[in-house]
Amino acid sequence: MTTVLDLKNVSKSFGDIEVVKNLSLALNKGTIGCLLGPSGCGKTTILRAIAGFEDIDTGEIRINDRIVSGRQILAAPDKRRIGMVFQDYALFPHLNLTANIAFGLQHMERAARESRVRELLHLVGLDDVALKFPHEISGGQQQRVALARALAPEPELLLLDEPFSNLDVILRERLSTEVREILKKQAATALMVTHNQHEAFAMADEIGVIRQGTLLQWDTAYNLYHRPADKYVADFVGEGVLLPGLVLDDRSVETGLGILEGEFKYPCHNGCPADVLIRPEDIIHDDASSFKARIIKKQFKGANIQYTLQLPSRDIVKALVPSTCQHEAGQSIGIIPRVNDLILFERRATVTPDDPKLL
Ligand code: ATP
Repeated sequence: MTTVLDLKNVSKSFGDIEVVKNLSLALNKGTIGCLLGPSGCGKTTILRAIAGFEDIDTGEIRINDRIVSGRQILAAPDKRRIGMVFQDYALFPHLNLTANIAFGLQHMERAARESRVRELLHLVGLDDVALKFPHEISGGQQQRVALARALAPEPELLLLDEPFSNLDVILRERLSTEVREILKKQAATALMVTHNQHEAFAMADEIGVIRQGTLLQWDTAYNLYHRPADKYVADFVGEGVLLPGLVLDDRSVETGLGILEGEFKYPCHNGCPADVLIRPEDIIHDDASSFKARIIKKQFKGANIQYTLQLPSRDIVKALVPSTCQHEAGQSIGIIPRVNDLILFERRATVTPDDPKLL
């Protein structure tokens, strides 16, 4: 596998605030990566450093094994062979879509250029509006033009900065899947940043969760959700609660849901406290079950309802049940815990304001 993008121990401060901390990651050819984190965690700074708009204090950035940022090296953005898609698309308003896409292809012969533009217009499904101007098309179409323009010169790496943030929720979801298909058809290597995990899941092969400038986990969406490396990732990706538990042996842990059994990784196996990650889908609703929990909150989510439940132990869990289930807050319902992935975290006695917001 060829590594296209390689960041090693990259740090960056603004004044005395370190916003990127010793960050390393690698992206192989044809892979779509995503940096996911809340506002202000440093993801745009990382993207700007890769693009060459920002220098770095320590570490090294390589694109196809060329050092583009490093000790006394800062290759100009236009020398990095990257393409960029910005939040606001940054299309040229005075140029029609064809001319926008052709913008980076001036070095090509006319016939080759026209053919490449036609190919891209087709790829992004805009053949029939090729001569319109940016203000004459929708936000979603503008987004696709920006993508086509960035892909046109066949960059070695494509960077996308919150590419869907100006679109409504429904369009975002549809477009993120479409954009992924377009990138895959071009075998493009891309890195996007977003604070929206649904976009990250829909777009990326590998996702890095960033917290305050630190990359906590670089992994597949599946592993981030099912094997989170720490409590912050567990909280930021998907929903869930941490249930206090007592480890009984190397396969069982006692919690307010009863004794949960399975494989887990945990340094201590006899009698130590732990926090056990319980996802909403780990709790099955079954009226016939003798294990009852009281509904304290009900959230309608279309196909499903998410109940917040209080267990007899007084611990709280969430449960995702089909929305045909008609129970109201205050009622007790039968549940069966079915925890497929037992994820345990160290239990801390004190909670700081910086702790994740697991219920
Ligand atoms: P958002 O999603 O809101 O854009 P982000 O995760 O992309 O957030 P950055 O834009 O990388 O975060 O900003 C990280 C931190 O660095 C923030 O506290 C921000 O205020 C600060 N910062 C960014 N650029 C500069 C700059 N040029 N000068 C000083 N501080 C900056």
